Amino acid sequence: MPGLEDLYREIILDHYRTPRNRGELPVPPARHAEGHNPLCGDEITVFLDVQQVDGVDVVSDVKVSGQGCSISQSSASMMSQAVKGKPVAEVRALVRKFKGLMSIEVDDAGAADVDVPLGDLEALQGVVKFPVRIKCATLAWNTLTQALDS
Ligand code: ZN
Repeated sequence: MPGLEDLYREIILDHYRTPRNRGELPVPPARHAEGHNPLCGDEITVFLDVQQVDGVDVVSDVKVSGQGCSISQSSASMMSQAVKGKPVAEVRALVRKFKGLMSIEVDDAGAADVDVPLGDLEALQGVVKFPVRIKCATLAWNTLTQALDS
């Protein structure tokens, strides 16, 4: 019977082989940011369309391009799936929660406890055992934050 580790490996490979929301968005109106992880050679560009819906900023569309290892690319795919259609405030909460999963200190206490479902992202929690891979897993999320702030 396959264990949890095997299941997680399958989820990561599925996102790596069939990345979700792959591509680019026209800039402007989209915001974009590029991220690099020189330790591993990973490159990720995140494109975001943010629109106001009923007075709330919402990530109406997201696309990801780039190349790199399976952890960086699958994390980017999962990130795109998790944030598409979500309010920006919820997206920022998800970034903090994911960094908490990666054992990265978040600047505001308690933020990692927000009730945001991680879904497939939980498959990446095994990465925390390999500190050098944490930078691979968080690259898409740091790039996402840069795009939100741009
Ligand atoms: Zn990597």
